Amino acid sequence: FSARRPVIAGNWKLNPKSIAEASQLLKLLHANFVNHRTPAQLDVEVVVFPPFPFLLEALLVLQGSGIKVGAQNVALQTSGAYTGEVSAPMVRSIGVDYVMLGHSERRAIFGESDADINKKLHLCLAEPGLGVILCVGETEDEYESKLLASVCDVQIRKGLKGVSISDLSRIIIAYEPVWAIGTGKVATPEQAQVAHTVIRNTLTDMYGYQAADSVRIQYGGSVNPENVDSLMSMPDVDGALVGGASLTADAFTRIVDGAI
Ligand code: PEP
Repeated sequence: FSARRPVIAGNWKLNPKSIAEASQLLKLLHANFVNHRTPAQLDVEVVVFPPFPFLLEALLVLQGSGIKVGAQNVALQTSGAYTGEVSAPMVRSIGVDYVMLGHSERRAIFGESDADINKKLHLCLAEPGLGVILCVGETEDEYESKLLASVCDVQIRKGLKGVSISDLSRIIIAYEPVWAIGTGKVATPEQAQVAHTVIRNTLTDMYGYQAADSVRIQYGGSVNPENVDSLMSMPDVDGALVGGASLTADAFTRIVDGAI
């Protein structure tokens, strides 16, 4: 038995192409969740992460559905001469509940370091009510070199540097092995459990057993309606971070149903 509330998140990445398509997806999600299927009734927390231009539409359309809205990134600064950036206070001011940080695409394609991620995380924690999903995970080479444990340990320690035990409750960890993201090559439930145990052990070392035991750790990487149930049956898998399958309302809804 775990007291940790399951959390399912949908990472839309750079999709869909237009506000019309985004709005359609949001309306379908709203229809699936409102009334008989609200996340509160299911006792599962549900969050979607659309691109910035669709955040306000998501907040409007999802009203009454219980689905929360998150931003996929924030700037390293809060305001000023940083053309093209979007800050943590800005997204919080429109009603966004979560920010995703440290996604492997941000690390690999946009060169974000653990220090950058940690700085962004502190800017998010400075905004009352804003939560963070901190993504960690090893590459295929690292996995094959048996570096999973050391890579995840370092990413957690550096990512959470300076985070107080009281702020830890605002943070969700997403374990996303890079080799499983967008590849259809899902980790086995046992592989996920091993990695989540590594992460929880690091958290225990940093914050003590009780605090570490209450942190939710999601698995991410090719989650779909067929495999979510077996992944979620693992004692330390507390949810899923879903990419591709979150772009279809029915698949995402079935994943939430499978998480219970
Ligand atoms: C992700 O982008 O975080 C992800 C897990 O993608 P996918 O589900 O498509 O593998």
